[in-house]
Amino acid sequence: MLAIEQDTKQSTSRAAKIKARAFAEGFDKVGVVRAESLEEERARLEEWLRRGFHGEMQWMARDRESLLRRTDPRLILPDARSVVSVALNYYTPHEHRDDPAQGKISRYAWGDDYHDVLGAKLKSLLAWIKEQWPEAEGKVCVDAQPAMDKAWAVRAGLGWLGKHSNLITREYGSWVFLGELVLNLDLEYDTEIVEDHCGTCTLCLEACPTNAITEARVVDSNRCISYGTIELRRDELPELITANQQGWLYGCDICQDVCPWNRFERPTTETAFEPRLNETSLPLLRVIELTPDEHAARFRRSPVKRAKLHGLQRNAVALLVQANDNKDSTFKI
Ligand code: SF4
Repeated sequence: MLAIEQDTKQSTSRAAKIKARAFAEGFDKVGVVRAESLEEERARLEEWLRRGFHGEMQWMARDRESLLRRTDPRLILPDARSVVSVALNYYTPHEHRDDPAQGKISRYAWGDDYHDVLGAKLKSLLAWIKEQWPEAEGKVCVDAQPAMDKAWAVRAGLGWLGKHSNLITREYGSWVFLGELVLNLDLEYDTEIVEDHCGTCTLCLEACPTNAITEARVVDSNRCISYGTIELRRDELPELITANQQGWLYGCDICQDVCPWNRFERPTTETAFEPRLNETSLPLLRVIELTPDEHAARFRRSPVKRAKLHGLQRNAVALLVQANDNKDSTFKI
């Protein structure tokens, strides 16, 4: 009995210390949950893939093994016992320029690449944990299991899954990056789930210009401007996207911009997320003139490089054609 009490006390204090250290690293929200297979979430992911909602992101549906790996942390770290789920606020108080000669960049991509920023903080946290408890082993995950970051965050009580399918936190709205640290340590687990506060609101479903949110918490990537302008590797954007692009060059924030919970946004203290070169949009004519070398230098360690030069220029050309065809546009080439 005494041994069990001591074990429980030790893991409580370990969890508390790890959380305190995570906050000291700069994370805004931290929760700890048991490392177990995400059965329900895997079933939902399988159904989403079966419906073809992943579009041309074939890597998501590659094989059963990669699906299992994404939904079971014990396949990432064999002796996994705990998952530390973290959120980092990335909101900065800047806006897009209302100018048809500019292409808007999604807010998440204004600053430095979040993989690098979160990855460095999680690695530093893991190094500290190893110093405290030499038996500790861990794996850092940032976007390693794309659909699952949100599942861990929900389980860890960081927020709830909004109808636009992004995690919403009470304190920072949905402007948060998520990551995990999988550990072989037994810890005290958070059990309090944040209840769904979307209620009857359907603003994100109504605002989406392509009806990509087919039902609450289900996004069909084939219809999503964000997917089309970032992930789609085709020479031309589908007509559904170009007819509804609304000035988006890279990504789309429409469903998050209309969310009432994003009234609770607060500026981040992380300077790496300030807009690079003070830009929240890019001049379209400048984008189509970019050379490969200029593109590589300009978007080094920026999320925008994900679209590749070809994708960015394809998106810019589409916006220029739309501006030219729009009789009310003040910008023509
Ligand atoms: S990102 Fe844009 S296109 Fe995609 S679901 Fe949200 S509003 Fe619709």
